Amino acid sequence: MRYHLGLIGYPLAHSLSPQIHNAAFRSCGLEGDYSLFPIAPDDMLALKDLLTSVRTGRIHGLNVTIPHKQNVIQFLDEFTPMAGAIGAVNTVYLRDSKLLGHNTDVFGFIADLNHFLEDSSLVAHHSALVLGSGGAARAVVYALLTNGWDVTLAARRIEQAQQLASSFTNYNLRITSTLLSKIDSSNIALIVNTTPVGMSPNVDESPWPENIPFPPRAVVYDLIYNPGKTKLVRDAEAQGLPATTGLGMLVTQAALAFELWTGCLAPRETMFASVNQHLVSNR
Ligand code: NAP
Repeated sequence: MRYHLGLIGYPLAHSLSPQIHNAAFRSCGLEGDYSLFPIAPDDMLALKDLLTSVRTGRIHGLNVTIPHKQNVIQFLDEFTPMAGAIGAVNTVYLRDSKLLGHNTDVFGFIADLNHFLEDSSLVAHHSALVLGSGGAARAVVYALLTNGWDVTLAARRIEQAQQLASSFTNYNLRITSTLLSKIDSSNIALIVNTTPVGMSPNVDESPWPENIPFPPRAVVYDLIYNPGKTKLVRDAEAQGLPATTGLGMLVTQAALAFELWTGCLAPRETMFASVNQHLVSNR
């Protein structure tokens, strides 16, 4: 059998997903391809057509990224409780003739965060500040809240943050504006950036203002993975704080999707190396 997988989103030119999944195919000894399917933000017909290809078995699985993580939901038969809870789907597959939506960003983030915290073993308490309130923030906030963290969400559009918070009323979630100078950050043990600020090519930008010191014992997790070291990570490290980008999350969410589609245990280290090498050679 030859697997046909791919990614829906827009734009997609710089996606690293083909490298990651092709490395997994090779390592597992499977025949397969991973294609990019750029679909314009308002082209629901093209989106529906592509999902029909999964339904008919011509495509065996799809990842979904900006701007379609919510758009795909209307064309699915069911979604997992996790995808339902955060209202976003990043993985589509067929099970028992039903088109299913799941979200692997949640486990991808928390698994990589826990791995990083084990290495740094520095978190004194579970109080996190999340910057941004878009699609990735939904997965991150859900992952943190359901793993015992208190979360403060700093967003430039308070109404978007309020909408996000309304999905998590049973948890300890506060919202605030991105005017970070007004936040008492002394208790914050973890800062997570879910905004695109600092992403290539804007590598000299950071979501953390230069004139505000980081909380003294915080760990910094930046979801951005390109560049290999963001300004946020560089600045945090310069202040002596443990900090990482989101490459591990990218690989982990991809590995979980690959396992759902193929049933093969995904070779995480090989997948990580393939993409890390690519980022280094394009630096
Ligand atoms: P999104 O849905 O567009 O959300 C981005 C959020 O950032 C929005 O709340 C947006 O606010 C805010 N924002 C944008 N520019 C800002 C600025 N200059 N100052 C303050 N806030 C700003 O995007 P997303 O899907 O959440 O993705 C966000 C980032 O996470 C991207 O860089 C993406 O590559 C990364 N990501 C990484 C992984 C991984 O596996 N490592 C997974 C998912 C996403 P407005 O709505 O007001 O614009």
